[in-house]
Amino acid sequence: MSDEMMVQLLQLSQKYQSKSAREHGLKRLQNRLWHISPTKLVSISLKYQIKDVFEHAFSQLVQLHVNKLDCDILTIPVWNTLIMAKEQLDLHRRIVACEPPPMVHLTRCQDRKTCDDDWRQVWWNGMGRFLLDGRNPLSFDDAMRQFQDFDYGAVCPDCWRQMLDFCKQGKAFTHERRLIDNTCQELASRLIKEPTFDSFNDSCNSHYVILITKFLMHHRNFRGDDWKFRRLE
Ligand SMILES: [Zn+2]
Repeated sequence: MSDEMMVQLLQLSQKYQSKSAREHGLKRLQNRLWHISPTKLVSISLKYQIKDVFEHAFSQLVQLHVNKLDCDILTIPVWNTLIMAKEQLDLHRRIVACEPPPMVHLTRCQDRKTCDDDWRQVWWNGMGRFLLDGRNPLSFDDAMRQFQDFDYGAVCPDCWRQMLDFCKQGKAFTHERRLIDNTCQELASRLIKEPTFDSFNDSCNSHYVILITKFLMHHRNFRGDDWKFRRLE
């Protein structure tokens, strides 16, 4: 089944309130999530009211450069939320890069002042650079992986290991994922109301969907408006 047919099935489902057509279209869409651009997925998921696809697409959008996105496809609520979420994530990233978690020394630490000073310096040289690198900013997980192999100078080895464990479990490093997940869910619940088909008989059962799919495959010149992804109102 082509992507075009997938969209036509969703269109069919919407027009005739067919649960079967929607399920067939969604099955194909789920398999194609990583092959269709996030902006197109947002457009499809808004038009056909598909929550999980919208959440997937939005979480991908947040990772991309704004200048590379086609703002004509995204709606104003999506665009505004995206910009606000990205600003919050950027601020959080800069705070983490510049503010190391306060050192908690172990009893074996011989020189707490030196340990403390070097911890701050090593954090800035390592984590600061990994997170703020303009050309290749690392994710928090990747930054931590690189940081744990970093030369930790005169930091007490025991204190160093303890601080690495602390950082890996700390909220600072999971904040990004939580913020993105919460934003996706909140926005999806505001913009999307999935059809329940409760009050309709499925006028387009599985058998009919198979016939329609065959029909579409033999009439590939037929084109709906869906794939043009015009700005949605
Ligand atoms: Zn120490």
